[in-house]
Order: sequence, then C-alpha cells, then structure tokens
Amino acid sequence: MDLSVDDLAGRVRALYELASPCRLCPRACGADRMGGEPGVCGAGGAVEVAIHGPHFGEEPPLSGHAGSGTVFFSHCPVACVFCQNAEISHQGLGRGVSVDELAAVFLDLAPTHNLNLVTAGHFLPWVVDAQARAKNRGLDLPVVFNTGGYEARDTLRLLAGIVDVWLPDLKYLDPGRAKRYSRVEDYVPTALAALDEMVAQQGPLQVDRDGLARRGVLIRHLTLPWGADDTAAVLAWIAERYQGRVPVSLMAQYLPCHRADQYPELSGPVSAAEYQRAVDLMIRLGLEGFTQDPDAATADLIPDFIGGRMTRRAR
Ligand code: SF4
Repeated sequence: MDLSVDDLAGRVRALYELASPCRLCPRACGADRMGGEPGVCGAGGAVEVAIHGPHFGEEPPLSGHAGSGTVFFSHCPVACVFCQNAEISHQGLGRGVSVDELAAVFLDLAPTHNLNLVTAGHFLPWVVDAQARAKNRGLDLPVVFNTGGYEARDTLRLLAGIVDVWLPDLKYLDPGRAKRYSRVEDYVPTALAALDEMVAQQGPLQVDRDGLARRGVLIRHLTLPWGADDTAAVLAWIAERYQGRVPVSLMAQYLPCHRADQYPELSGPVSAAEYQRAVDLMIRLGLEGFTQDPDAATADLIPDFIGGRMTRRAR
C-alpha cells in the first residue's frame, strides 16, 4: 500500500459515502448500507467474514512457502449458478465483525506473504478502514484484491495505491453466458472496463527475487464445460488487449456445484482433453501464466482451499 495516512483516511471517507445509497458495485442498488439495509448482494451495515487463514493453493507467486493470507467475505453481488463457495457467497455463511476485529484478523495474517481479500468489493469501506488501522499498527503486506471481475470502475479508482495485486476473474466474453450463468446482463463490458482500470493502475504482475507477487495484475479464467469457444475468445482478447504482457491463470477446478445441476450443459466436469486444448491455445497466443492440475477438481471445496491440495504450475 503506497498511500499516506491522510490520503488513506480520505479514501475511507469516500468509500463510506458510496455505501449509502450503495453504489459500491455495478448493481448500484441504492441500499442504505450505513443504516443497516441489506442490498441485492445480501450485505448490510456490518462487514462479515466467513474464513480467514494462510492459503497454500493459490498461484505460486501468491502462496509462496508461507501461504497467502486469505480473508473470505460473505455474500457476493454476482450470482453464479456454479459457485463453488455458495454457502459463503449466496447463503451468507460468516459472522459480522467490527472494523477493529477485522484489523486484528489482518494483523494475524502478517506471517503470510500477502493480504488476499476474496470478494471484498461490497464491504470496501469497512475493509479499507480496517486496512488503515492494521497499517497503523505495523502491517506491511502487499494487498491482493481477489474478485469475480464484476466491479465498478469508479470504486476501483478509489483503490489506486491501496491494492498492490489485482486478481480478477474474466469469466466470459459471451454476454448470453454471463446472463445465463451469473445473472448479470452487463458482466462483459463491466468486467472489461474494470480490467482496463486495474492494468492502468498496476500493469502486469511483478515478482520479487523470491518469486513473490509485489504488484500488478494476474487474470484468472475458469474453464467451463461446453465453454471452449468462450474460453478461446477470453484468451485471445487478453492476448490482444494487453499484448501478451498480463499473465493468465487458466483454472481447471470446475465442479458442478450449487445449482449447476439445473443446467444440463454444466452438470459434468471439463474433460482433461478440453482443458488441454485451452492450455495449448494459451501457449500459441504467447500468454504467460499458470495452469492447474485437472485432478484438483476432484477435491472437496472449502477443505481443499484450506488444505491447499490444488496444484498450479508455471509452464
Ligand atoms: S455492493 Fe451490494 S448493496 Fe452495494 S450496490 Fe452492490 S449489490 Fe447493492
């Protein structure tokens, strides 16, 4: 985090102002969050945390040897039918914490390599407030913003100098698939604008001499069954837009979770051959990044996240 204490305090005030009526995320549903009113995402007037701790299954520059200091926030503005964390994102698993308690959670993660904020966009005022308090008490970790990609550009601008590593998904380029599977009609233009903002702020991923992420952007894309054309479009767009400079994490961990069984095309896994075709395309396009062991998709979900059994490898 590059900002001075005074600048950070100004950003915190601006973010709280965005929370009532709430327009923190692109849904701009107008909920009176500071008055305790829950919005479309399910979040109300207190920050809620589901899980926190070191995570060893992120990409190598994030997990390193000491783990990525991950904090999973409850609720989500996007309603993916195949969500692997539906208990947290859609059923609101977690507990409300004060800003000081959240700062203490962040400080507990000091032995890890970074502070990895997972789906934090709908709690940003409280999160950045807690970051400021933790920073005042000596926390000095790179801040990772781990998001599904559906973020408001104006909100992201308030995070310049606060977020060090942007870790967004680019789930689709096909608006029809975004609407059908994530229930947002404007996912594609919104996510693309958000990506441009992230890249403008921090550029491609940069690592230190130990190979640990210090700043920049790493884009994640989860391969979906019957989604090869859209995956190809996503990879080609990233390669062309950022001239191969921004790395990609091509994920193989899809499982038919949550309500995926209501969609026949989503009811099975992505085949190893299908995933390999996407990897081959990534290489042909000259994209750097990370791939994932397709066997990871057989693991349990939340225990897998904690236990870090997923394996990603730099190609
Ligand atoms: S973050 Fe939640 S409450 Fe705020 S605009 Fe988005 S959906 Fe509404």
